[in-house]
Amino acid sequence: MIITQRTELRICTACGEPIADKYLFDIDGCAWHGSCLRCSVCLTLLERQPSCYFRDRQVYCRTDYIK
Ligand SMILES: [Zn+2]
Ligand SMILES: [Zn+2]
Repeated sequence: MIITQRTELRICTACGEPIADKYLFDIDGCAWHGSCLRCSVCLTLLERQPSCYFRDRQVYCRTDYIK
């Protein structure tokens, strides 16, 4: 997961809206709003987690990823 400073308008993978925030989350070339980066299983907000995991265009927290 990379937190990047926005240089171009990116579309959020989760909500499909353009990201106008100063920072966005970039995982494997896909972008998210910080507020949209939630585990697809338990819906935990991953913005403040030390790590998150990405598989098949779904985002997981560590707990759900290793299940
Ligand atoms: Zn979003
Ligand atoms: Zn989870």
